[in-house]
Amino acid sequence: MSGTIVIGAGMAGIACARALHDAGRAVRVLDKGRGIGGRMATRRADTVAGALRFDHGAQYVAARDPAFDALLASMPEAAIWDDGAAHPHYVGLPGMSGLPRAMAAGLDVTSGVEVTAIRPFDTGWQVTAGADILAADRVVVTVPAPQVARLIGADNPLVPALSPVAMAPCVTLMAAFPAGTPAPFVSRTPPNGPLAFIVRDSSKPDRPQVATTWVAQASPDWSAAHIEEDKAQIADRMLPLLCAAIDTDPNAALHADAHRWRYARVTTPLGRPFLRDGTGTLHLGGDWCLGARVAAAWDSGTAIARDILGSSDA
Ligand SMILES: Cc1cc2nc3c(=O)[nH]c(=O)nc-3n(C[C@H](O)[C@H](O)[C@H](O)COP(=O)(O)OP(=O)(O)OC[C@H]3O[C@@H](n4cnc5c(N)ncnc54)[C@H](O)[C@@H]3O)c2cc1C
Repeated sequence: MSGTIVIGAGMAGIACARALHDAGRAVRVLDKGRGIGGRMATRRADTVAGALRFDHGAQYVAARDPAFDALLASMPEAAIWDDGAAHPHYVGLPGMSGLPRAMAAGLDVTSGVEVTAIRPFDTGWQVTAGADILAADRVVVTVPAPQVARLIGADNPLVPALSPVAMAPCVTLMAAFPAGTPAPFVSRTPPNGPLAFIVRDSSKPDRPQVATTWVAQASPDWSAAHIEEDKAQIADRMLPLLCAAIDTDPNAALHADAHRWRYARVTTPLGRPFLRDGTGTLHLGGDWCLGARVAAAWDSGTAIARDILGSSDA
């Protein structure tokens, strides 16, 4: 080959690939997940009330960079969620994953393929992806920092720079109640205790109104204590916690499911937008570079693309 391989189709990888593609560069994106978006994720559930969707990862995007804000404001797949915030909180349509999916339109993205190794080869790189070995001039890795070393090899000189970065888990409950069930708030950040953030998902624009849906995120401590349990057990534990917060009978739930995010929230970021190796052809990035936000992932991916496009041999 032939161009750049981007590992990860979350916001960082898509932002990077979009900018490279739009500048006329050959770029291919590989992701082990079922679809595009990474932690900007939407889960579909078939319930007695009908088909529902839950944003079980990022709840909204708040852009700080004017270019990112302008991009979101221009997208038909983005809408402002009226959650009382002073600055616009954008959500995807029909769910959060709609945003990265729309940003990836026209890109060469392969989902469902896990990259297991990235090694120098000749003047470029060899990428082991599923059963295939692919060649690339450049590689951009946007997987969570704790998963990078096993891809690039523990002896890669960039690995020591990753060690200060820390990420915390988050277990998440998705629950539905009959439409019309009293819904006391749109979102809430409880000050202490097992739940860190509670969102009435059905209050977002264009969500199905056949049920009242909620997403509850457990605190980092509670998540760490329970992340090895199975999802049904986590849902059983979290449903009464949510119901206490929204003053609703747990027996009224039409649906309850849980998701375990092992690397959910950046607690110690790198402090700069990316890492680049001595050859200038391997970049590492993602939200873990700048902070626990979709906007940080966009900033990192965009900065990597700029660096590649600005380099003399690109
Ligand atoms: C529960 C939760 C709530 C959040 N709430 C908010 C919020 O409200 N607002 C906000 O701004 N941010 C929020 N965040 C953070 C936000 O989701 C992230 O900052 C952002 O989505 C990270 O994007 P990324 O591209 O860096 O990483 P990711 O989205 O994690 O993308 C990395 C991708 O790499 C892929 N991958 C990993 N390993 C491999 C491999 N070996 N081979 C191939 N592919 C691989 C993964 O499948 C994934 O798609 C939340 C996160 C979580 C988990």
